[in-house]
Amino acid sequence: TRKLLMHVGPVTIDYDVLVAGLRGDVGFTSQEFIDVMSFSLKFLRKLVGADESYQPFIIPGSGTAAMEGVVSTLRRGDKVLVVSNGVFGDRWKALLNRYPVAVDVLKANPGDYVKPEEVEKAVEDEKYTMVTMTHVETSTGVREPVGEVAKRIRDKVELIVVDGVSSVGAEVVKMKDYQVDVYLTASQKALGIPPGAGLLVLSERAVSRLSDESVAGYFLNLKNWLDVMRNLEVSKGSYFATLPVHLVFMMAKAFELIEREGLENRIKRHERVAQGIRTGLESMGVDIVAKRPEAYSNTVTGVLLKKANPADVLKEVVTEGVELAPGVHPALAGKYFRIGHMGWVTPNDAIATLAVLERVLKRLGEPINLGEGVRAAQLSFS
Ligand code: PMP
Repeated sequence: TRKLLMHVGPVTIDYDVLVAGLRGDVGFTSQEFIDVMSFSLKFLRKLVGADESYQPFIIPGSGTAAMEGVVSTLRRGDKVLVVSNGVFGDRWKALLNRYPVAVDVLKANPGDYVKPEEVEKAVEDEKYTMVTMTHVETSTGVREPVGEVAKRIRDKVELIVVDGVSSVGAEVVKMKDYQVDVYLTASQKALGIPPGAGLLVLSERAVSRLSDESVAGYFLNLKNWLDVMRNLEVSKGSYFATLPVHLVFMMAKAFELIEREGLENRIKRHERVAQGIRTGLESMGVDIVAKRPEAYSNTVTGVLLKKANPADVLKEVVTEGVELAPGVHPALAGKYFRIGHMGWVTPNDAIATLAVLERVLKRLGEPINLGEGVRAAQLSFS
């Protein structure tokens, strides 16, 4: 049976994107590969709202690899403030603790986000080299107002880093306007590509900190990747470590499709689908993890249950053709699951998901209004 992957990445992938990776004869020095890398690097800048002065990187790995690449801009003794709205915010602390840098964490309650004024106060009270934020916290589906935070702290810290893993391609991202130094993401999320690559864009200031003094190791040291990216962008073959060649063909196809749809339209499509899903859930009679409307994201919605066990719900919905994501925030363990709505997602996918959820929740004894979720979503899409 066909399955709809309403997950947090990988997500259901466009068939043309998948097929673009079917190639038996492409070495890392082949012109076709060099061309798709060059196109993808250039397009990555546009995806985050950066100009030519910013340096894009496409590296093997995943979102965590991209996060670890950020360490290339840090030196021994640097101090980092982590703005954490959940599991992936906390990941920065776990990661940075492996390096000789100091880390403080500002934490939000589950379902909420750290307020811009709290971040501003923290960087006034203490001198930090870097502040990290998570644009959309995937564990709860909460969005941080990164532009506003960046504006308040820009002159008080050296480097502003945003984890855009669940945002780039689906939320408004204006790296240059916000004066953010690093925006990073992963292939398998809102970009709708299979997993296998980490993507980063660095400001000139961030690039200037890539040096032998950094605390980075070898493979994820962006200094080792810098010339490779610069060469490939101008269509010169280059090697540090092998890139996910076939994946980059899929990436270039995805980027071509994004260009055809228009980035703004793509963001609007995500917003519309997310809105329909939330409206449907509310009318169905279940609560959303994100505590306030301005915290809602375009890509992930956490769903709180009163009676049914989320693990049972996930098992049942798969038998009905939809795969959803488990809840991973430890403070909400056993109380919620997540719907991912990113990539190539459509209103039809939202309706199908809500319809399956209504049937399953009803069967599992959750008190819901059968049919009301689908009806509300239909109205929202009409
Ligand atoms: N940051 C965020 C916001 C994420 O959602 C994820 C994973 N879903 C990561 C980082 C880590 O990415 P990956 O699993 O690709 O290593």
